Amino acid sequence: MSRPTTLHRTPHRPHAWLAWLAASQLAVAGLWWVAGWRWGLPALLLSHAAFIVPVFLPRATLYAPALSRLPGDERQVWLTIDDGPSDDTPAILDALDRHGMQATFFLVGQRAQARPELVREILRRGHGVANHTWSHPQAWFWALGPRAMAAQVERAQAVLGELAGQPPRWFRAVAGHTNPFLAAPLRRLGLARAAWSVRGYDAVDGDVVRVLQRLQRGLGPGAIVLLHEGAPHGRSVEIVEAALCLLREQGYASVIPE
Ligand SMILES: [Zn+2]
Repeated sequence: MSRPTTLHRTPHRPHAWLAWLAASQLAVAGLWWVAGWRWGLPALLLSHAAFIVPVFLPRATLYAPALSRLPGDERQVWLTIDDGPSDDTPAILDALDRHGMQATFFLVGQRAQARPELVREILRRGHGVANHTWSHPQAWFWALGPRAMAAQVERAQAVLGELAGQPPRWFRAVAGHTNPFLAAPLRRLGLARAAWSVRGYDAVDGDVVRVLQRLQRGLGPGAIVLLHEGAPHGRSVEIVEAALCLLREQGYASVIPE
């Protein structure tokens, strides 16, 4: 087993980015003063990009620490299934049972509230439940302000905590995006951010072969595997089943870091 204290990292300085921003802008101003606009302007643009690009990089840690891979070289992976609960949940639970694998379900609070029996069933079968926001605002999560961001994290945490009997310890951002306002609610609620090292784009691509090829390319000891349920293409169960077969063929066990 891996070392929980180092894996579960809640943000401890949610506003560290402000200090970096201030320092970078002072440096740019200094450069502009000394070397003129030919150096100052590109430096200004680059310095802004350095704060904007990480918002869209799922593994970037500028705004909050993230676990993207488990340490060690054992053939084990952390299976994570996002976006439930859904109509697919029962079949996915059966598939996990058949393959003797455990997963963490990153649930959307609103969907969990609507289908509490599925949340209880996930837990009864020995899987983990984690926070994947209240309403999964796909297009705008990255742009949420401090209050809306906090509400997304807190409302899901409250509902899932009540259903599970204890609050989730892991959070996954929508589409893996972060912004300067995510770390504060994570810290308040003792949540650590989970990213991933392998994905097959199965939320949007229903082609089982293509998804499997992408998963296979990224697999390795300690991989964090991102899968989805309830995708609009309707083939999530088939994809999860195929992914479980692939993992078993390649001799991987599943593990849930806690
Ligand atoms: Zn999602």
